[in-house]
Amino acid sequence: MAPERFFLELDPPAEAMREWPHVVIVGGGFAGLKACHALARQPVRVTLIDKRNFNLFQPLLYQVASGLVSEADVASPLRQMVGQAPNVQVLLGEVVDIDPAAKEVIFNDHRYGYDHLILASGSGSTYFGHEEWRPLAPPMKILEHADEIRRRLLMALEEAEQTPDPERRHFLQTVVVVGAGPAGCELAGSLIELMHRSIRCDFKQLDPACCRVVLVEAAERVLPTMHPKLAAAAAGYLERAGVTLLLDTMVQAIAAGRVSLNGTTGGPQELEAATICWTAGVRASRLGALLAERSGCPVDRGGRLLVEPDFSIPGHPEIRAVGDLCAYRHTPDGRPLPGMAGPAVQMGAWVAASILATCGGGGPVAPFRFTDLGSMAVIGPWYAVADLRGLHVTGLAGWVLWALAHLAFIPDTENRITLFTKWMWQIATRQRTALLITGRPDQHLGVDVGLYRARLHPPESADAGADGGEPLTSQDSAPLAA
Ligand SMILES: Cc1cc2nc3c(=O)[nH]c(=O)nc-3n(C[C@H](O)[C@H](O)[C@H](O)COP(=O)(O)OP(=O)(O)OC[C@H]3O[C@@H](n4cnc5c(N)ncnc54)[C@H](O)[C@@H]3O)c2cc1C
Repeated sequence: MAPERFFLELDPPAEAMREWPHVVIVGGGFAGLKACHALARQPVRVTLIDKRNFNLFQPLLYQVASGLVSEADVASPLRQMVGQAPNVQVLLGEVVDIDPAAKEVIFNDHRYGYDHLILASGSGSTYFGHEEWRPLAPPMKILEHADEIRRRLLMALEEAEQTPDPERRHFLQTVVVVGAGPAGCELAGSLIELMHRSIRCDFKQLDPACCRVVLVEAAERVLPTMHPKLAAAAAGYLERAGVTLLLDTMVQAIAAGRVSLNGTTGGPQELEAATICWTAGVRASRLGALLAERSGCPVDRGGRLLVEPDFSIPGHPEIRAVGDLCAYRHTPDGRPLPGMAGPAVQMGAWVAASILATCGGGGPVAPFRFTDLGSMAVIGPWYAVADLRGLHVTGLAGWVLWALAHLAFIPDTENRITLFTKWMWQIATRQRTALLITGRPDQHLGVDVGLYRARLHPPESADAGADGGEPLTSQDSAPLAA
């Protein structure tokens, strides 16, 4: 884009708006999008900056990874969602620096001024100092990760179909999922169902009984943040579905197609698996560390900014950090709010109201109080566990609650209708329609399941990766295996 055009685009089209306070929102996820919605058509000028042009509904990423739904079903273009409001400007770009003294953010080689800054850049995955594991065991944080997990698993099954060697087949039909939080349990449950179903119906040479999904967790139970009763119900369901649980077990090393483990009771063991996935670690977006450096704002161990009761950072009332990027400890028990969609949405809405109040466009706001609506995890078709403020629901009732809650939370009406239709179709037919292996055809030559590529091209040391939209796995840039 020519620089002239770029600056033209940044000028508000209406003369009257030029005097309005300028609110810059970085990140159009749960928190940023909610703030943007709340500020749309209010007497402020809003610029929403995101490095992706869409809002991603991360809780359903596992459905993309396991071929239940397609990418576009869980993502919606930001311009269509908020770009039509006359006072909202959506800009595509990655904010790479912040200058709190000058009140400017830096992106696309430009400095861009603000009166109020809302930082909502989310979180990314972390490998606890072992970034070399990232290409071997992709995380599940962005769409490309989900695509990559699906591609690896389907490629492994395709190769297994053509492999006479039973040992190799067994290897190709084995999946290891590291981390048994909600995302890990959902992924493991969905992948075992996909493998059993696909192999029974679509593959002629494979035996469903040889499929293996192993779920590895360092804590002594699955779903460590949920009530033990719900965790036990989820574990029981997963085991009945065919998932092997390795609890109290730490990952020691990951190599191509191999995971070395050490269990408190089971001792050291090696697992060989063609598909390895990582859902174990979360770290705040790197903008958190950057802002901490620039402003002196303290961060917690996960890199989250320790914010004031109004989500501002110390000494800068005009900068607010919300969602997964902040550690909000001003709660009755002093424990930080969890990194989940519910808190992120409520923070975004409150901060927008608070900014409007500061600008004189709205009434005074009551102090922020988080309303806990509970937590849930879907473990298999028709089966979910839900904790609704102490009311524990499992099984079909849990699944119905889960489905209703997710449909209500999805910010886009078209996606809501599509998802509902697809889920009903799957329930009726048990068919998955999004089982495409995408990418360049030559990407799939040989055994492109993370093995040959890794052997031919040892993993490059990836960067920290701990941001809301980390590098698109090394496969996207790695030379192709021939
Ligand atoms: C697989 C998975 C499953 C989950 N399941 C659930 C669930 O079932 N229930 C639940 O409540 N929560 C769930 N979560 C957590 C929930 O998705 C997050 O807590 C929530 O997304 C946080 O919202 P946010 O607005 O802070 O960040 P995000 O929604 O992550 O949005 C951050 C945005 O910032 C953008 N961004 C990042 N860095 C920059 C930059 N430098 N410049 C410009 N833009 C940038 C990103 O592109 C992104 O659009 C899940 C998360 C994952 C990964």
